[in-house]
Amino acid sequence: PNAAMIRWSKQLRSCIDTSPFLYPSRAFSGIASLARHPSPAAHKWSHPPSPTVISDDDVASLASKPLHVLSLADLVKHGRPPLSAQALFSSANFTLSLLPIRLAHRIQALRNLPFIVVSNPNISKIYNNYLHSLSTLLPYKSKTISNLEDEIRFTEVLADLVETHAHTIPTLARGFLECRKYINPAEVTRFLDEHLRARIGTRLIAEQHIDLHNSSQSHQHPDSGTQATDDSSYIGVIDTALQPAQIINSCGNFVSEICELKYGVRPTWIIDGEPSTTFAYVPVHLEYIITELLKNAFRATVESGKSHEPVIITIAAEPENPREGLSQLDKDRKLDGGLSRTREVEENPPIKPFDDPAPGVTIRIRDRGGGISPEVLPNIWSYSFTTFSDADELPGQTHGSGNMDALNAISGAGGSSIAGLGYGLPLGRAYAEYFGGGIAVQSLYGWGCDVYLRLKGLGKPKG
Ligand code: ADP
Ligand code: MG
Repeated sequence: PNAAMIRWSKQLRSCIDTSPFLYPSRAFSGIASLARHPSPAAHKWSHPPSPTVISDDDVASLASKPLHVLSLADLVKHGRPPLSAQALFSSANFTLSLLPIRLAHRIQALRNLPFIVVSNPNISKIYNNYLHSLSTLLPYKSKTISNLEDEIRFTEVLADLVETHAHTIPTLARGFLECRKYINPAEVTRFLDEHLRARIGTRLIAEQHIDLHNSSQSHQHPDSGTQATDDSSYIGVIDTALQPAQIINSCGNFVSEICELKYGVRPTWIIDGEPSTTFAYVPVHLEYIITELLKNAFRATVESGKSHEPVIITIAAEPENPREGLSQLDKDRKLDGGLSRTREVEENPPIKPFDDPAPGVTIRIRDRGGGISPEVLPNIWSYSFTTFSDADELPGQTHGSGNMDALNAISGAGGSSIAGLGYGLPLGRAYAEYFGGGIAVQSLYGWGCDVYLRLKGLGKPKG
């Protein structure tokens, strides 16, 4: 520990004392307890003083285990709800085998940030959230869940985990904006990209079990049940018959409402292509992505004075038999991969727990909003990059320098502002890529943008 570090730790303590964020109702370990019980060793950042809850060894040994790459198939492998008690336990144990490792990896990554960054009250709040969540899972460390009582308690722990991390992106964004002097933007983007991608999976794993638990419970007690699960197309958080057109329409209504409030005009949209397409996907992910892409398209449309031009959204389903549907060019390019994939399927006739009507969907969102200038284009995938300015509406908030618009966006309406956080495209892409899809932006500067969102649905399970 050098002098600078001790100085930082003093700063850290003064941050904590004045921070309105750090004392939520729950008892946190880590930095918060460091502030409550200052000790001579308090500056030793690498040893969060929570020996009764989490030891460094716990974190280190969990973080040294490899991360399991989550697939949509993992999430449906316990079957369609209502689950039997056995299936519910195996879902709980699968969840338990993944989450502590994932949380430990995040804790490790946060610890590896420059000390002054983790000392920021916002970032340290995030860090404490992870410590807290890991501490709630550790009692299950060497346990196998095999009775309903344990399963119910474990599901409550998961619900707490989801809630703890539910609204933390603005906190994280604010933290990194406040620290922008101490860490270079590329490092921030690298950290955020990894962190937010990991967060997508962690959240999904926890929510999946909670959902399976709830839909199995309500079946066991039909009086208390709120949803009929038997003929539902849902398996937990996955809708096996998700219709993108429906999501586009509901998100379109929502975003055009925001435009009405912000600009006084309601942009319109037209869906063409194959609007009846369905595929198996996570609706909340699609909702997030579509909302962000429509915000961008509508904003550009209105700001370039083209509000009368509808945004055209084309939905294309991938052909069911790739060999028939491929163009000659794609055939040349993908011949090998396509054939070996087909052979694998033929050799292992798939077990079909449900119909898989379309393996993948591409959605093109075409606006007449003038496109993206060459100076702006290289930055659009950076977290916090935005060309949106709301300064005239928030004249009081002009302290500091740099990206104040993003700070304003955070303090403002959050998810219901048209733009300004600069997270829409990079986080939307993280969601799309999570299960093998992607987002590509094609700008026709002076005219408009085409944004291609490609999503891989749940493929036919192997074996
Ligand atoms: P935000 O919308 O909060 O600014 P995004 O990540 O969604 O953040 O977008 C980053 C920037 O990319 C926007 O500020 C805008 O300059 C540009 N952009 C994105 N989509 C479009 C579009 N369809 N037309 C014109 N510019 C766009
Ligand atoms: Mg946006």
